[in-house]
Amino acid sequence: MSKLEAFLARAIPAHQQTASAHLGDRSVYVGASDIVGCPRKAALSKLHPVLHDIQTLLRFARGHAAQAMYAEFFTAGGALFEEEVEVRHPRIPEIMCHIDFLFHGTRQHKRLHVVEVKSTDGIPYEPYGSWVEQLHVQMGLLKLEVDPEIEISGSVLAVDLNKGIYQEFNGFTPNDVLFTHLEKKGQHILAAMRGECEPDTEPGPLCGFCPYRSGCQAHAGAQPIPVEILTCADAYERLQRQKETLEAGMEVLRNDILDYTGTTMSFRGQDGELSIATTVTAASTMLDSKKVKAKYPDVFKECSKPKIGSTKLEIKRIPPKVFEEEQKAA
Ligand code: SF4
Repeated sequence: MSKLEAFLARAIPAHQQTASAHLGDRSVYVGASDIVGCPRKAALSKLHPVLHDIQTLLRFARGHAAQAMYAEFFTAGGALFEEEVEVRHPRIPEIMCHIDFLFHGTRQHKRLHVVEVKSTDGIPYEPYGSWVEQLHVQMGLLKLEVDPEIEISGSVLAVDLNKGIYQEFNGFTPNDVLFTHLEKKGQHILAAMRGECEPDTEPGPLCGFCPYRSGCQAHAGAQPIPVEILTCADAYERLQRQKETLEAGMEVLRNDILDYTGTTMSFRGQDGELSIATTVTAASTMLDSKKVKAKYPDVFKECSKPKIGSTKLEIKRIPPKVFEEEQKAA
């Protein structure tokens, strides 16, 4: 690790502490983002907090950067707003939220508009369920606190800093039924934090990043798959089959083209907008690493360097007949 890298490894966690200082001691309350996620993860993160890795901290920093940037835009545009507004549940003060941006209406039009900023890689076609639920916790808590005459609305502002794009998902208003459900979930997390019950598990797309996955009942043995992941897996499996069909078709065409260009000399050709080029490289040798490891272990050890691990993903569609038989046997 270089000096600068070692410095950043200390500086980035220090920056995160400063950047999230306004959130206070998160181990003593349940926030909107806790409520919309998995209760077990939320409760364990309060009881047994873990240090986040640098990659996660950089993702958090990207979120702070996006919010700071848009705060400057809103200020430059003359918007009337407050940032990081803390709202507590009037009867259950351990349930609270921090609203990214709260816009105020005019003196004539009593209105409050909640904006939750989400920094993403790519803008989704529609907002994720957890984003919308987080907004509903915020709007619901706000509704409990302010004058009933004030009209409350909310939106999610998804921002992709890399691509320089953003999109607002607008038109949300408080929903009492949904808020009551989320409020109960918050109370359940609080009860689990106090050791009064076992927290429920709610497996979802973020289980892969969960530091409490070990020992989680939802991942013991063969597990049912959450609907969002099932949709992704289904689309992935279809694309995989399309890719195999395309690759087989390309292989046939490739062979036809190479039959014409030959494979012993490089070729350049063009007709209209289409050009064909082949590059022929001379035969070469490569090291048989298995053999080196077996015959010269010292040399292999000296010439080895760490390699980042990878994850193999396998998605297969079970043939209907096999599936039926499995169901019968179960
Ligand atoms: S692995 Fe998934 S289900 Fe289990 S605690 Fe973590 S988030 Fe919840």
